Amino acid sequence: MTDTLDTRTAPLGESLTNPALFRQQAFVAGAWVDADGRATLDVTDPASGARVGTVPACGTAETRRAIAAAEEAQAQWRRQTPQQRSAVIEEWHRLIMANQADLARIMTAEQGKPLPEAAGEIAYAASFVKWFAAEGLRIHGHEVGSPFADRRILVRKEPIGVTAAITPWNFPAAMITRKAAPALVAGCAMIVKPSELTPFTALALAALAEEAGLPKGVLSVVTGLPAEIGAELTSSPVVRMLTFTGSTRVGALLMEQCGGTVKKMGLELGGNAPFLVFDDADVDLAVEGAMASKFRNAGQTCVCTNRFYVQAGIHNRFVEKLGAAVRALKVGAGTEEGVNIGPLINQAACDKVEAHVNDALAKGAQIAAQCAAPDGYAAPIVLAGVTEDMRVCHEETFGPLAPVIRFTDEAEAIRAANDTPYGLAAYFYTRDMDRAWRVSEALEFGMVGLNTGAMAMEVAPFGGMKQSGLGREGASEGLEEFLEAKTFHWAGI
Ligand code: NAD
Repeated sequence: MTDTLDTRTAPLGESLTNPALFRQQAFVAGAWVDADGRATLDVTDPASGARVGTVPACGTAETRRAIAAAEEAQAQWRRQTPQQRSAVIEEWHRLIMANQADLARIMTAEQGKPLPEAAGEIAYAASFVKWFAAEGLRIHGHEVGSPFADRRILVRKEPIGVTAAITPWNFPAAMITRKAAPALVAGCAMIVKPSELTPFTALALAALAEEAGLPKGVLSVVTGLPAEIGAELTSSPVVRMLTFTGSTRVGALLMEQCGGTVKKMGLELGGNAPFLVFDDADVDLAVEGAMASKFRNAGQTCVCTNRFYVQAGIHNRFVEKLGAAVRALKVGAGTEEGVNIGPLINQAACDKVEAHVNDALAKGAQIAAQCAAPDGYAAPIVLAGVTEDMRVCHEETFGPLAPVIRFTDEAEAIRAANDTPYGLAAYFYTRDMDRAWRVSEALEFGMVGLNTGAMAMEVAPFGGMKQSGLGREGASEGLEEFLEAKTFHWAGI
């Protein structure tokens, strides 16, 4: 129960200052429960393969109960004043930050990212809670100028109703708070189905929401069988919106399933981010941005750079400096001191990186730099001589692989950057202001970064174009997603 216990050997609960945060039950309708049939799913530590714990393998029946409780709770929750709702969410924020170290340990145990990075994600996740607690006070409608003298037209913003969230394993905390905080302040109830690979962070967040005073049933976390829980959430007429973060494949499937009940959807899907470096760029700044964008979470982020396009005049200097930075990384378990690249989530993830490397090498690319890595870990690699016919240019690698493609002119680079069904994030480096504007406009991505490799923050809308998704999270746009405009026509006045 002290900070000195080693999470690699001690059971997770015992390594926490607040052991009550390690929950191995689902949170359904305001109660901590097992699955009806008592079946469980194992959760493993990606660094060691050891079992971290088990969670209930919930399915249809438990999901149905969560939905029924959400419907009942929401009727009351939406009637609370914005100030009352915000006060609960603010307290949730306070508790998350007060338990930051424990939440980070839970996350590292199930997800693998280095402890400091996990603590960073908790702060990032909490930033949404804080920001939306304040933004929830600013929900207001307006009056429309009426074309008839005897008529008044008012537009009121109302909560959309019961909502559901399905979230991925790569950001086990932030992908939940970015959805739940705006939904809750808007007056919606939410049922969260976290990834089966990282449910403990979600359950710990739910425990803190309960402690913050969130009424029973307003938030449920249903762990278990994805397809079964998903089928119930998508087919229920009570659930009015589904917000999903994950792969484009599953997003498209859920979209089909939501068709029957015409649900609103928020979709944050896959990416294939290009990173363009022009001859006039500050090469050190570009390498710093490249490292931040490519290697955060071992390359397992939807906005992480998937392919680097570097202009001929700066190409060799960029590759050399990027290679030096990559060789200086330390790969290992997330609990080890000084590690900045943890394990990938599972063997399939490692296999995909290897397949992309082998495909590129077979088609003529070369390894320009490689970082040492223990057995079972994906080694960070810089590939040079990459060409458009290689898989790395068209598929999300989701690992620590940096392929570099040399280009000569701007139009060629933009064409290649846009040649993807994805449109989430793009980055470019230049000091030419004409080019800055031109390229910002030409890139078909929901988020474009100039001279920066990091863009995700609570104050700015986050989301993708094309097959990277629908809707936006964060910022006032993220709150709007959970509100509906209701028009009052009052005639005979
Ligand atoms: P995934 O699509 O495999 O899983 C995401 C979630 O969907 C998990 O909770 C999973 O259990 C659930 N799921 C899977 N099959 C389901 C089904 N049939 N019915 C209902 N739910 C189902 O994705 P992942 O591997 O967890 O995450 C990686 C992907 O997420 C990457 O493509 C990444 O780019 C994307 N991502 C996008 C964003 C964004 O904001 N755009 C953020 C993070 C991750």
